[in-house]
Amino acid sequence: MARPPSGAVKTAVAPTRSPNGWPVWGHDVVVAKLRHSVASGRVAHAYLFAGPDGVGKTTLAVSFAQALCCQDGTRPDPGLPCGTCLACRKIARGVHPDVETFGLAAQAALAEKSGGKHLSLSIETVRRLASATALRPMEAGRRIVLVEDAETMQGVAQEALLKTLEEPPSSVVLVLLADDAEALLPTIRSRCRLVDLRPVSRATVALALVESGVAQEQAAEIAALAGGRPGWAFRAAGDPALLEGRRAAVDRALGWIAGSTYDRLVAAVRLGDAFQKRRAEVFADLDTLLGVWRDALLLRANLPHYLTYRGHAERLDGLARGWDLDALHRAVCAVQTCLSDLEANVRPRLAIEAMVLQWPTSSPQR
Ligand SMILES: [Zn+2]
Repeated sequence: MARPPSGAVKTAVAPTRSPNGWPVWGHDVVVAKLRHSVASGRVAHAYLFAGPDGVGKTTLAVSFAQALCCQDGTRPDPGLPCGTCLACRKIARGVHPDVETFGLAAQAALAEKSGGKHLSLSIETVRRLASATALRPMEAGRRIVLVEDAETMQGVAQEALLKTLEEPPSSVVLVLLADDAEALLPTIRSRCRLVDLRPVSRATVALALVESGVAQEQAAEIAALAGGRPGWAFRAAGDPALLEGRRAAVDRALGWIAGSTYDRLVAAVRLGDAFQKRRAEVFADLDTLLGVWRDALLLRANLPHYLTYRGHAERLDGLARGWDLDALHRAVCAVQTCLSDLEANVRPRLAIEAMVLQWPTSSPQR
């Protein structure tokens, strides 16, 4: 049974068609290449769409599948799906029999009874997707198998997938979606056409939201928080809790900075101790912190237009006026050093304490 791509169903606000012809905002060169390969009939057997969570991998994959399966024979460009024929609509709803999605969400849904956490794609899932590639297409000329969360596969699962990639049935297009392509075996990467998705400009993300009916001011705030990830922006536009979570993280960072040296160190120890269990969250908190210090630096340098957290402009302004450019720059560097120390496995408590000790403390200069 085909399942809707998990990234697609959570989006309450849906992207409209962008100037590149697909509802994929930014990534114009990538879309042009994929459109051309569909139009010229030069489609590879396997693709690897790689880029950070929320950058637009799922939307790109769904549009690609639509371009491959669209039934509208009158369209002038075969690389441009109509979006309205039965095949296009079935793919958008995740019910096309020849477009099947595998990923952590689908795996968890299948194993509902057995429970447990699904942090990596299992070998059973890889076996299931391998048998899915062996089926003949029912309605379209091809079968398209999407594999979300591909970067979570462990060694054995990756080796099983490699077997499928080595002998792909001619009617199948396999599309792997991965936050980090480097997590996959070089032998897997070399058998896929790599499609690298980079962050999209803030203006493009804001425009995408406005074109889909989000109010200008809200679109500007979400685009600033999205870090170049239109997929995240659309999720946030439809999910107030997501946006609220980001705002709360900024408040936490501002509170940490505003504390006394003692309070800052206590918070550092707490975060350091949490690192083993909540690594991704600690990194996210430190990224937010970096954004806050950078915003203070930008305000101090009279560049308010580039703020990431413009919703917090008032408190940021207080920080900006408290210290000079040099002190703010040192704080930014300290957070960057801490992030690379943690990547390099320096003891978390040590790295985070060293960071807060670099922050400016003295009373405001002006
Ligand atoms: Zn169509």
